[in-house]
Amino acid sequence: MLRRSVFQAVRVSRLNPAYRASSPVRQTSAAVSVLARTYSSPSPVRDYEAQLRGMLDQAARNVEAGVRAPESDDKSLRLIMVAKPGAGKGTLSSRLVKKYNLNFISTGDVLRHEIQAGSELGKAVEKIVAGGGLVPDALMVELVRKELDRHVGESWILDGFPRTLKQGRMLNDVLTSEGRPLNLVVNLNVPDSIILARIKARWVHLPSGRVYNDDFNPPKNPGVDDETGEPLSKRPDDTPEVFTKRLRSYYEATAPLLEMYATEYPDCLYSLTGNTSDEIWPQLMEVVAPLHERAGGYAAEADKHVRDEADDLRDTTEVNVGDKTAHIQ
Ligand code: AMP
Repeated sequence: MLRRSVFQAVRVSRLNPAYRASSPVRQTSAAVSVLARTYSSPSPVRDYEAQLRGMLDQAARNVEAGVRAPESDDKSLRLIMVAKPGAGKGTLSSRLVKKYNLNFISTGDVLRHEIQAGSELGKAVEKIVAGGGLVPDALMVELVRKELDRHVGESWILDGFPRTLKQGRMLNDVLTSEGRPLNLVVNLNVPDSIILARIKARWVHLPSGRVYNDDFNPPKNPGVDDETGEPLSKRPDDTPEVFTKRLRSYYEATAPLLEMYATEYPDCLYSLTGNTSDEIWPQLMEVVAPLHERAGGYAAEADKHVRDEADDLRDTTEVNVGDKTAHIQ
C-alpha cells in the first residue's frame, strides 16, 4: 500500500520526469515542491540541489543499465545514512534500532564519548568537533574499522560516516574485501531552513544528555532542567554559525560521495525527503523492511508503539542502542 503511494507520488513529479515508477531512487512530489520553494533563487545551495537531482537521475539510469552494488552471501543489513547536520538522522536511527534491533554505530557519538573521557583521541579532535570541522579521514577510518570489527555478520547502521569521498572509498574497500559490502545507502533531504529552526530551539542538560525543544518539548521552567533544576545549555556545535559551517562542509564533501554511490551502488541508493522525521519515517521503513526481512526476521511490533517509545527515550535521556549510547539530536 505504502509502496504504491510512493510510486504514485513519483509519477506526478513534474520537475523530474526522468523518475519512473520502476526506479529505486524515489522522491515524493511534496519533496520536489519543497525543493522548488527553498531553492528558487540562484545560490550555491541551489546548485547543490540540481546536482543531487542529477545524481539521482544517474543512479536510475545505471540501475536500468544493470549496474549493481557488489553482491554478498551475508544478508545482514549494512546501512549508511547520509544527511545534512541536524536533519534528524539521530531520531530516525533510534527508531530503526528499536524496530529492527540493529547495531548503531555513530561516529559523532564515539568522538563525543572520547572527548568527554579526555582520551588522547578526544583531546586531538575536541577543537575540530566544537568548531564544526571534519576530523581527518585517516583517524576516522581507523576508528570506524575498529567499531565494525565488533559486528561481523551482524546488521548495523552506520551514522555520520562516511562524510567524504575518501572515507566512502576506504569504507567500500574494507567492507568489500571482507565480503560484507553496504547494501543500503539512504540520503535524508530536509530543507536547510527547517533544520536551522530546529537547532535554534534545541537545549540540552549536558550532565545527563536530556534534550529539550522550545517548540515541542519545552522544559517546565525556561532554561533549567526538569529533574535537577540545573541550567540548560547549547551543544557547543549547535549554533547557527557552526551549523552554517557544517552545512557548507556537507555540500562540499558529501555531494561527491553521493555521486560515487549513484555510480557504483545505484541499486542501494535512496533519497528520502521531508520536513520532519515523521514524514520521512514511512519512506525509510519502505526501503529498510524488505532488506531486513531478507536478513531473516521482521519484527512485527506495532509501528506507532515503536515510534513513540524510541522518541520518548530520545526526548528524556540518553538512548542505549547496541553497546553504544546514542547522542540525542
Ligand atoms: P555528528 O554527531 O554526526 O553530527 O558529528 C559531530 C561532529 O563529529 C562533526 O561535526 C565532526 O566534527 C565530527 N565527525 C563525526 N563524524 C565524522 C566523520 N565521518 N568525518 C569527520 N568528522 C566527523
